Amino acid sequence: MLDQKNIDARRESVVPPQQHFIAGKWVSGEEDARMDVISPIDGKCFSSLADGGACDVDRAVAAARAVFEKGDWSRAAPGYRKKILLRWAELIEENALDLAVLGVRDNGTEIAMAYKAEPLKAAQTIRYYAEAIDKVYGEIAPTAENALGMVLREPVGVVGAIVPWNFPLMIGSWKLGPALAAGNSVVLKPSEEASLTLLRLAELAAQAGMPDGVLNVVTGRGATTGEALALHMDVDAIAFTGSGGVGRALLRAAADSNLKRVFLELGGKSPNIVFADAKDLEKAAQTAAAGIFRNSGQVCVASSRLLVENSIQEVFLKKIIELAEDFKVANPLDLTTRIGAVASERQLQRNLSYVEKASSEGATLATGGKRINKNLGGYYMAPTVFSDVTPSMAIAKEEVFGPILSVLTFEDVAEAVKIANATPYGLSASVWTADLDKAHNMVRSIQSGVVNINCTSGSDITVPMGGVKQSGNGHDKSLHALDKFTNLKTAWFSFD
Ligand code: NAD
Repeated sequence: MLDQKNIDARRESVVPPQQHFIAGKWVSGEEDARMDVISPIDGKCFSSLADGGACDVDRAVAAARAVFEKGDWSRAAPGYRKKILLRWAELIEENALDLAVLGVRDNGTEIAMAYKAEPLKAAQTIRYYAEAIDKVYGEIAPTAENALGMVLREPVGVVGAIVPWNFPLMIGSWKLGPALAAGNSVVLKPSEEASLTLLRLAELAAQAGMPDGVLNVVTGRGATTGEALALHMDVDAIAFTGSGGVGRALLRAAADSNLKRVFLELGGKSPNIVFADAKDLEKAAQTAAAGIFRNSGQVCVASSRLLVENSIQEVFLKKIIELAEDFKVANPLDLTTRIGAVASERQLQRNLSYVEKASSEGATLATGGKRINKNLGGYYMAPTVFSDVTPSMAIAKEEVFGPILSVLTFEDVAEAVKIANATPYGLSASVWTADLDKAHNMVRSIQSGVVNINCTSGSDITVPMGGVKQSGNGHDKSLHALDKFTNLKTAWFSFD
C-alpha cells in the first residue's frame, strides 16, 4: 500500500541491481567498466551500474537471436505467451512499491505520481497486450476460388529498445508489451540516468517464466552501448523514445548498418489553448499548471506553451502564477510533495540556461526561474512562468523538458491555430472550450498526434500515442503498436 511508513521502510532496503541481465542471468560487463548512480534527491552516489560496451551488446543480441531461432517464444502459441505475460503483470503489481521507490531514488519523480504512472501503468500495459495477442487475426484476401491469399503477421526478430530517463517503466512497457506479445526477443538499453527499475522488470519477467534470452537488459551510455545496439547487424528493429538529436543518430546508424527499421517517439512543445468560453476556467488553470509542473516538466506531452485568449489573459495568468507558487517542491519520497527533483544536474543547468535565454529575448519572468532547496543537496527548480512570450522566441519553439511555462496570447481561432502549429513538433495539444464546433475545428487544424479537448494527456492504453512532424513516427499504445513489431507475410496458394 502507498503510505509513508511503507515508503520509508523501502528507502534504503530495496537493493539496486548492478549488472546486465542477459539470457536470464545477472552478468558483469566484459570490460568491467562501471558508472555511478547518482540520486537527484540529494546528489549522492548510491550505487553503480555496468557501463556496457559493444561486446556486452553482442552477447545480449546473440542470446536474443538464439531463443528467437529456437522458437520457444517466437513460435509458441499466443495463449502460452499470454499466460506468462499475465503472470509478469501480476508480479509487477506485487512489487509495485519496491519498484516505485527504487525508481524515485534513481530519477526524482514525486512518489505519488511515480507509483501510479510507473509500475501500475507498466502492469496495465503488459496485461493489455497479453490479453490482446490471442485475439489479433491475420487476413484472407478476397480472391477468385482458384487461389487463397493469406496475410500472416510474424514477429520481426530481435528488437532493440532504447528508452529515456523519464517514466522508464511506463515508456519501457509501451515497447516491451507489444514487442514481446508478438513473439519478438528484445534487447533493452535503458537511460544511464534511470536503469534500475527496468533491470528489476526483466528479473520479474524471468520469474514469471519467460524463456531465457527473450528479454535482455544492457546498461551503459548512449554514445557507446546505445550506438552499438543501433549499429548491430543482427538487430531487426529499433524502438526508441528520446530526443530528436538521438533519433537522427539512430536513423543514420540504420542506414550505415542493416537498414533496420527505426521507430521514433521524440519530443514535443505542446500547446494548451484556453478559450474564454471554456466551461470551467478554474479547472483549466489547475490542469494547465499540473500539465507543465508535474515531474518537474519532464514529460514529453507537458503543456509547455499556454495560449490564452486575450480577453481573459490577465485573470488567467494571475491564477497560473498563484498555482505555480503554491506547489510544494521537496523530497520526492515524501507523499505530500507535489513536485520532486529534476533528474540530473545537467538537466537543471539546461533549464536555467533557458531562463537566461528567455529573459534576454524579452520574455517576462512572472515567477520562479531559479534553483531551490539547495540544502537537500539534490536538483530542485522552482515552477517557472514566463509571460509576454512571442512565437519566435526560443522558449516558445524549443523543447526545454523542465518546469518552465511559456504564456502566449491570441485573438481568435485562426491566430491560435497559427501559433499552435509554429514549432517543428507535433506530439500533443489541448483545447479548452465549451463550443463543440470550435473544438472540432481545432482537432482538424492542429498538427499533432494527439489533441485533448477539455483535458491534458487524458488518454489511456486503448488509443495510440505518437507524433507528427519532428515528434517522430510510429505509435506506442493501442493495437496499432503491434504494427511496429510484426512483419506482414503473404502466402499465396494457387489451385490451378
Ligand atoms: P536522449 O535522447 O538523450 O536519450 C534517450 C536514450 O537514448 C537513452 O537511453 C540514451 O542513453 C540513448 N542514447 C543517447 N545517445 C545515443 C546514441 N548515439 N545512440 C543510441 N542511443 C543513444 O533523451 P533523454 O534525455 O533520456 O529523454 C528526454 C527526451 O525524451 C525528451 O526529448 C523527451 O521529449 C523525449 N521523450 C519522448 C516521449 C514520447 O513518447 N514521444 C516520451 C518521453 C520522453
